[in-house]
Order: sequence, then structure tokens, then C-alpha cells
Amino acid sequence: MQLLDNAIPFFSGLIGANIVMYLFTVLISYSWSKVHNHKTLALTRRDVYNSLSVVLINILVAIPGYYLYKKGSIHFTTDTHLILDFVILFFAFDLGMYLLHLVSHFVWPFKKFHNTHHSHAYFNAISLYVMEPVESLLFGLLLTVFAFFVQLNIYSFLAFIFLNWALGVVGHLNTQSTKQPFLFGNHVFHKTHHQQANSNFGFYTVIWDRIFGTFYRKN
Ligand SMILES: [Zn+2]
Ligand SMILES: [Zn+2]
Repeated sequence: MQLLDNAIPFFSGLIGANIVMYLFTVLISYSWSKVHNHKTLALTRRDVYNSLSVVLINILVAIPGYYLYKKGSIHFTTDTHLILDFVILFFAFDLGMYLLHLVSHFVWPFKKFHNTHHSHAYFNAISLYVMEPVESLLFGLLLTVFAFFVQLNIYSFLAFIFLNWALGVVGHLNTQSTKQPFLFGNHVFHKTHHQQANSNFGFYTVIWDRIFGTFYRKN
């Protein structure tokens, strides 16, 4: 597959995409808070170093996946199942990440790692990237393992990675609202989780929180 066969264009594209996504996160989050006049969390030097190390991990974590692809252990298709593969990825990761997020709140040492992300009760422009690097490493490895076992359409895979980032940006936009969404996760839903850590563990949808009784309810 031309997109992946040559390491230099692949890693150049990967590094470029990660830098562009980081810069757009800053631009979108900063503009959002400015336009809506939201108070933002002070940006610390620690947040900046932390977020940059997460960007670095997001790039490095592609190396084992790329190695497996070159070895022939990971296969992608180009022409079939575009929508179906996207839907499978979306719902599999929505459930998988809901469960892992629960583990991150209740099981050592994941609980310890996850505390860093929860140091933000409301957001600055890089809150999405403020987490222990091991958390982004685990997410990247989970994607690699999924691609190892399920042969996916490459465009569905890329679209899913883009959507995961975009929904992450949306989830970390400041808001004063407490009106929870009906079906899909948003900034109100995720900010509530940052403030009431025993509710709203989902990311893309609120389905699993509704099913398992962890959806936020006003007392
Ligand atoms: Zn968050
Ligand atoms: Zn959490």
C-alpha cells in the first residue's frame, strides 16, 4: 500500500499530522474560550512539557505497528467495508475505552497514572494532552493490537484516529453548561467527568454510562 510502504514518507506524515493536530488543538481551544469568554486554567510549564511528551509518545507508539505491518502481521485493505469498519472501530473503542476508563479510576497503578489528567477541573488550551504519557502509550498499543487481530480499511482507520482527536478536542472545551447530552459525548459531558469523577466515563457516546448506571444525574 503506497501510503504505508515507504518509511520516510510514512513517518514524515505521522510527525507532521501530530504537530498540526497539536497546534489546531491549541488554536481551537484558545479561540473557543476567548469567544465565549470562559475563564481558562492557567498554563503551567509542567503542562507544556507533559503535553509535548504525549505528542512524542503518540508518534513513537506507531513504530511497533509499522514494524508489524512491514513484517506482514498487520494488513489493511483499501476498497471494502469503509463505513462498516469505521462503525466497528467506533463502537469497539467506545466500549473498550469506557471500561479502561473505569479501570483507570479504580485499579492501581492505572488510577495513579490517570490522576494527572484529572488535575484539570476546567481547561486550558492543552488539557487534552495533559496526561501521563503511559496513558497515550496504552491507547496507541490498543489500536495496534486491534489492527493486528482485525483487518481494517486503512481509510476507516485514519478517519477513526482523526475523529478520536476531534472528539477529544471537543470534550476539553470549557463550558458553564450542565445540560448533559442525549447520545454523543461532548464538552459538557466530559467536563462533568473532570469535576464529578464518579460519573461520565464514556468518550464518544453516553450509551455505556446509561447502560451501566454511571451517567451523571443532578441530585
Ligand atoms: Zn479529559
Ligand atoms: Zn477520568
